[in-house]
Amino acid sequence: MLPLDRAIETLLAQAAPVAQSEPVATVEALGRVLAEPVVSAIAVPPLDNSGMDGYAVRCADLGAIPGTLPVSQRIQAGQVGLPLQPGTAARIFTGAPVPPGADAVVPQEDTEAQGERVTFRARPAPGQWIRAAGLDIAPGAGVLARGTRLRPPHLGLAASIGLTRLQVYRRLRVGVMFTGDELVMPGEPLQPGRIYNSNRFLLTALLRGLGCEVIDQGIVPDQLEATRKALTRAAARSDLVISCGGVSVGEADFVRAAVKAEGAIELWQIALKPGKPLAFGHVGGVPFIGLPGNPVSGLVTFALLARPFILKRQGATDCVPRALPMRAGFEVSQPGARREFLRVRVGADGLLEAFAVQNSAVLTSAAWADGLADIEAGRRVARGDPVPYLPFSELFG
Ligand code: AMP
Ligand code: MG
Repeated sequence: MLPLDRAIETLLAQAAPVAQSEPVATVEALGRVLAEPVVSAIAVPPLDNSGMDGYAVRCADLGAIPGTLPVSQRIQAGQVGLPLQPGTAARIFTGAPVPPGADAVVPQEDTEAQGERVTFRARPAPGQWIRAAGLDIAPGAGVLARGTRLRPPHLGLAASIGLTRLQVYRRLRVGVMFTGDELVMPGEPLQPGRIYNSNRFLLTALLRGLGCEVIDQGIVPDQLEATRKALTRAAARSDLVISCGGVSVGEADFVRAAVKAEGAIELWQIALKPGKPLAFGHVGGVPFIGLPGNPVSGLVTFALLARPFILKRQGATDCVPRALPMRAGFEVSQPGARREFLRVRVGADGLLEAFAVQNSAVLTSAAWADGLADIEAGRRVARGDPVPYLPFSELFG
């Protein structure tokens, strides 16, 4: 059994980023990976502007406080005012450019208007409530790095410098297949001995969450020939083949034999619970990942191994999930040789609670949880002990 860290290293070392990129509309670019850096041609904001509804003044014009000035102009957002006449104030609104000559904005809450005059109750400090030109982005500044996975703030930022399109890496095409004579699709009658192919829905959602295009080869019977055919069909059309089930040690587990016949297995069995039977290799030069069939094992191995591999192939620079230091609200001992990932969630007291049934066939545990607790092999954890916690936000999507 290979340690998990070594297995992740092995996969990442073979994850060559796709070479091709394409332009997409900024509004459609969520989740895609930037193929080139974004540099701003403009300042954001373009001009010094008001951070409040109020009055623009020259501080030196206000002698004694309270003090009164005539209002010489009115500037709304979207307009540009005239230079501020000495000894006057300009009525101004949030986002409107501050007129040349003014050096502060006084919020209207600190003033009293009487017709065309305004009285100031507090002394303004020079610069107050002025958002300087370039406060957010200076002209020529690098705004987004190549390899950024685009999240909502990134799209807003790109739009704030006027970009209608972004150059992103092309989507990774992932061929998937589900082995098992027991599987039927939801919508079909469930004969005795059968179960629904729930992993199809789980895996497809995980892949779409990473922006992949999914090419589904469907259910494959537990036979060597059928498994070989499905593998080569998937490899012909995709950048990565992922199978589900059939990688354990049982007589009906044909996936490794089929991969060996069409390519090679480079790695099998990780010191990981759940997820020990994970396999990695290639089919005719296309990388192959064999996920275990138990739904939680498949989910955990996808999150810890397949996801970083896919992100790196999609050109992302930030591929490996980051654990947070948390404390256990449970007791557990892991006497075996495998590193264990428990389905947990953050309780109201800030401690991690563990789901009662940590069985790899119980998908309810993952639906209940909000993350995984990382328990080193051989460790005994008491209540209150520090435990690394991987929130699902670092593992899905
Ligand atoms: P395997 O890895 O093929 O030995 O499967 C391990 C367990 O996962 C068995 O109980 C299978 O019935 C179950 N399993 C395999 N594939 C799926 C699937 N696609 N959806 C739901 N359960 C599955
Ligand atoms: Mg099976």
